[in-house]
Order: sequence, then structure tokens, then C-alpha cells
Amino acid sequence: MEAIEDIVIVGAGIAGLTTALGLHRLGIRSLVLESSDGLRTTGFILTTWTNAWRAMDTVGIGDSLRQQNNQLFGLQTASSSSGLPTAEIQFDALGTQRGHEIRCLQRRTMLETLANELPSSTIRYSSKVVSIEESGYLKLVHLSDGSVLKAKVLIGCDGVNSAVAKWLGFKKPSFVGRSIIRASVYYEHGHSFEPKSFRYFGEGVRSGVIPSDDKSICWFFTFPSSSKNEEMEESPAKMKQFVLGKLGKIPDNLRAAIEKTELDNIVLSQLKIRPPWEILLGNISKTNVCVAGDAFHPMTPDIGQGGCAALEDGVVLARCLGEALRDKQGMSSEEEYKRIVRGLQSYAKERRWRAFELISTGYLLGYIQQSNGRVLNFLRDRVLANFLAGLPLKMASYDCGKLRAS
Ligand SMILES: Cc1cc2nc3c(=O)[nH]c(=O)nc-3n(C[C@H](O)[C@H](O)[C@H](O)COP(=O)(O)OP(=O)(O)OC[C@H]3O[C@@H](n4cnc5c(N)ncnc54)[C@H](O)[C@@H]3O)c2cc1C
Repeated sequence: MEAIEDIVIVGAGIAGLTTALGLHRLGIRSLVLESSDGLRTTGFILTTWTNAWRAMDTVGIGDSLRQQNNQLFGLQTASSSSGLPTAEIQFDALGTQRGHEIRCLQRRTMLETLANELPSSTIRYSSKVVSIEESGYLKLVHLSDGSVLKAKVLIGCDGVNSAVAKWLGFKKPSFVGRSIIRASVYYEHGHSFEPKSFRYFGEGVRSGVIPSDDKSICWFFTFPSSSKNEEMEESPAKMKQFVLGKLGKIPDNLRAAIEKTELDNIVLSQLKIRPPWEILLGNISKTNVCVAGDAFHPMTPDIGQGGCAALEDGVVLARCLGEALRDKQGMSSEEEYKRIVRGLQSYAKERRWRAFELISTGYLLGYIQQSNGRVLNFLRDRVLANFLAGLPLKMASYDCGKLRAS
């Protein structure tokens, strides 16, 4: 007979590893099943905002990551139609947004740091979950190699195409009619960009650049598209050519960075979200199963919060489960099950509106910034510029709290 696992987490991304680490800090063991044969080390940098640093501090990885990654000190926006600046916000101690901490992190560095803090047996690689079945108070988790695990709690941190979200009744995330091309550029002798996030909008497209450290930067370009970009999908050279042809009036150093980009470092992705009303009406948890991270709230990257929100989820989920499983010695299976169900319900309650707010804000901001209508463009560049530039900071002010309820 298979052993019973207390907590099974599907997916070793930011959400899965943060949840596992939060639980570990509370003395609770979990098992993380990851379909790949190692951590996903590909992908570019993530902008991590104040809310993410609070969560990273809570699980005990903030300080080591701070030492390796430079801070950003401002956000500047400009119109790529006129070439004129529209808004500027400073994050530094003397600026308009005191107390904010924004840094760029390599996804790989964050995942490795989280994984290195976990006991070595926590992550089981090459373990793809293919289906889930009920069995009394337990869930049977079927893997692609034919094996079956029994779990008292099942947490889906399995990304946008989540099998667990599907089991909970969520539909596939919806394509928003926009795509993004991203790339990183390495400068052997250092680059000329200030430590700020720069964004340019106009003519229905949006571009930007974020320096990740003294020698590398990451740029992005979002544009309206159909669900397939067949022409470009297989050809980074075409992607680069496409971007260079659509940039409008942007600074020379950004244009030069795009020209210099190596073709191996360019990727194209479609932007998908879970519609906000599904977040309000759907089952974030059902019995002893729940979702976190992109499996729960895939969002557009316009406010750079998907990964940050996955960190918040991990902290809140660990706290709710920690409370539910406290003093469980001698408890009957039924009582334990009921406590788990209630713990996951509190997690869902705490996260539902936050996820709704993040998805809606990101979508609206992206829509307005990428708009090509004359009236909306006028409002965006002349009337609402400071308000819009401040929205990411507003979203970043959130505090997900500590691992133990006081
Ligand atoms: C273009 C772009 C730019 C972005 N920029 C930012 C940014 O600047 N800042 C920010 O905070 N966020 C950003 N994000 C969002 C961020 O990347 C995601 O929100 C974050 O990676 C979600 O983490 P996750 O752990 O929920 O999911 P994932 O990172 O997708 O991890 C899911 C894991 O589950 C595994 N898995 C999947 N299915 C199974 C299965 N059936 N069985 C077992 N394992 C499985 C996968 O292999 C993977 O390792 C951006 C996203 C995009 C697309």
C-alpha cells in the first residue's frame, strides 16, 4: 500500500517552492512534485516589488537575495509617439515613494535560493501529475509513470495550464489579444542605463527596459496580435526585425540594445489571464485541494506582479495550513480533514480579492498603455500619466503578513 503524504504540492515554481518553504519554517513537511527533471532555470528577469520582498523576508530568503541584486530607484514613462516624457516616480529614500524596494531578479536565482533552503527530499523531479481522484478524506494523485500518491492536502502550483485548476472547475486562461517579445542583453563592459524602469507607449504598442544589474538589461515589447504569431514564432530574427520596425520615438540606447540582442535571447509569449469574474465565482479551494500562483491567477505582466503574487500566496497558504494543522496530535482523520478544509477556505477568502485586484489592474493598465485611440491616448499621456505610473507601486504596497497568525 502507498504511504500517505500529508501535503502534496504540484509544481516547483515560485508558488510551489514558497509554499513548501513557508511550511518548512513552521516545521511542516511537504512533498513537491515537479514534472521537469530539474528546476526551470530558463526565463528572464522578474521585477520584484516591495510586496515580494516582504514575502521573501518572511520565508527567510530576502537578505541573501538582496546582496546579489541591485535596487531600482525610479520609474519613468514617455510617449513613443512624441518622444516626450509623461511621468516620473522615484523610489529612493528622498523621492516621492519612500520605503519602496524594487529589484530585478533572475528567475533561476530565486528558484535556486528557495530550493536550497528546503530539506533535500522535498522536491521529486520527473513527476508529472496527470489526474486526481477522490478517496474518502484523501486525494489520489496519479503520475504519468503510473504511480499513485495519497495526499491529505493537494496544492496546485502547476502554472497556467494547471491540472489542479481544471479539477477545481476553472476554465483554461483566456488570451487577451496581446503578445510580448522579451529579451536580455549582456554588456561585457557595463551598460549606460540608469537603475530605473523605463516604459514607452504609443501607436498601439508598449516597450520598456529594466537594468537587471551593472552588466545586463532586459527589454520587452508588447503588441496586439491574434492567438498565433506563426510568422514570427519560430524566428527570433523576425521578432527582432518586427520590434525594430515598430518602436517609434524611443531613446537611442534602447534601440541600440535591441539591435545588439543575440537571437538566442529573444522569446515571444502570448498574454493570458483568468478573467476576474472567474476568480470571484470560482473554487480557489474545494475540499482538501486548492491552487496558488499562476494556476490560480494568471495575469498580464503589465504591473510585473505574477511572481510577486505567487510569493504572497505561498506565505498566506503556509500560514493558513499551519493554523489548521496546529496541535493535531491524536486528532481523528475526520477532524483533521475538516480543519484542512477550513484552513484552505481561509486561504481562498484572504486571496480572492487580492487576485481579482491584481488581474484587473494589470489588464486595464496594459489596455490603456497600449491603446491607439486619440482620446484615451490624450488622457493617458496628459491627464492620467502620474496616476497610471503610480499603480504598480500601489499594488506593491500590500503586506501578506507573517507565517504565524499573531
Ligand atoms: C512575459 C512575462 C513577464 C513577466 N514578468 C514578471 C515580473 O516582472 N515580475 C513578476 O513578479 N512576475 C512576472 N511574470 C509572471 C511570473 O513569471 C509568473 O507569475 C510566475 O512564474 C508564476 O509562478 P508559478 O510558480 O505559479 O508557476 P510556474 O512558474 O509556471 O511554475 C509551475 C511549475 O509547475 C510545473 N508543472 C506544471 N504542470 C505540472 C504537472 N502536471 N505536474 C507536475 N509539475 C507540473 C512546471 O514544470 C513548473 O515548474 C511575468 C510573466 C510573463 C509571461
